[in-house]
Amino acid sequence: MVKKLFKDFYAKNAWKIRPPTSIEKREFAFILIEGGEMVRHKGFSSLNGLIDYIKSEIPLHVYYSSAYYANPAAKEMELKEWLGADLVFDIDADHIPTRCKEEHDAWRCNNCGAQDRGLLPASCPRCGSKHVTASSSWLCYQCLEAAKDEAIKLIEDFLIPDFGFSTSEISISFSGRRGYHIHIESPKILSLDPYARREIVDYIKATELIPDAQGFEPGLKVPTIGDYGWRGKLAKGLYLYLSQASVSELSDVAGPDITGGGLETWRNNLLKNLEGGSGPWLLPSSSEAAKKLFERAVAYQRCNIDERVTTDVKRLIRLPGSLHGGTGLQVLSLSLNDLERFNPLKSAVAFRTGHLKCFVKHAPQIAMMDQTFGPYHEARVELPLAVALYLLLQGLAEAVGDNS
Ligand SMILES: [Zn+2]
Ligand SMILES: [Zn+2]
Repeated sequence: MVKKLFKDFYAKNAWKIRPPTSIEKREFAFILIEGGEMVRHKGFSSLNGLIDYIKSEIPLHVYYSSAYYANPAAKEMELKEWLGADLVFDIDADHIPTRCKEEHDAWRCNNCGAQDRGLLPASCPRCGSKHVTASSSWLCYQCLEAAKDEAIKLIEDFLIPDFGFSTSEISISFSGRRGYHIHIESPKILSLDPYARREIVDYIKATELIPDAQGFEPGLKVPTIGDYGWRGKLAKGLYLYLSQASVSELSDVAGPDITGGGLETWRNNLLKNLEGGSGPWLLPSSSEAAKKLFERAVAYQRCNIDERVTTDVKRLIRLPGSLHGGTGLQVLSLSLNDLERFNPLKSAVAFRTGHLKCFVKHAPQIAMMDQTFGPYHEARVELPLAVALYLLLQGLAEAVGDNS
């Protein structure tokens, strides 16, 4: 069933495949429907060769290397001769805390068997093992929007203003599941090693930021919103936090140290200073409270990228135009303008017509193509093909009856 659908799709839509630049220097990899193993070390000298391969093998997943190699098809990594790699960022809703995750996501520890609902933890809270995997990660509109906001933040707050990349050096794609890939193709970054890429990650995730070096210490000059780099971001973050925090929340964070005109006056004066006023740095008088405000400002401004992807100089990335074999959605190239209005549950739907009768074991509610379906529990239903295929690929449903 899946193979036939994918075959029909590629027969009509293979022209939508967007090859990476210098296709002849990239390694390609595929996960085939039969057997599910990964076929690696493939090289193609032209887009036509790649398309012919996809049409004949009908892979479930298609990847290419972020790296450029002299011999991309060599079977041993040492023989490929690494020539450089694009700088790649992966933003995935899996790593972004959203409230709805409690309703639709779950994880399991492969070491001790612990399991729970909600956001996938970095390590198991019971045994500390890092071998935790998602047992459910749902295609959800709110989670997809959160990932999109994070992608826009990465581009507009970091890549363009702080790193100085131009929009022509940045390409964006929807990953086909719950996230976005942002690629930088530029001679400037080609030869960066994993350590240099790690420094870029640390800057974006604010991993090593020290409060007093950024002015978050009583007696130091207030950072202002117009400042460059993290000082300006922290001023903005603190501004957002102060503007939205309730008085009781503020009192918990900074309260005991605020004297004189009270919390509201303090808040208003600090907001004015963050905008660029020249008054004294009206932080609470203790380093402890200043640190708490710093942490809240950082939380607003840092960007949640997957560091394993950015630091890997030989990463395999999904090919735009191909299908994601776990969702049936299409991996799509987007412009920055497209991104702001992009809704993958509409625009990345690959199978837009037809219905399928299936038996759904269990599924949370899903929204696709402006309609909602479910939740289902042990139900026989006829669903639009895209919805049914998603449930099938997730192992939550099976096709039943006459679906010819
Ligand atoms: Zn565990
Ligand atoms: Zn969600």
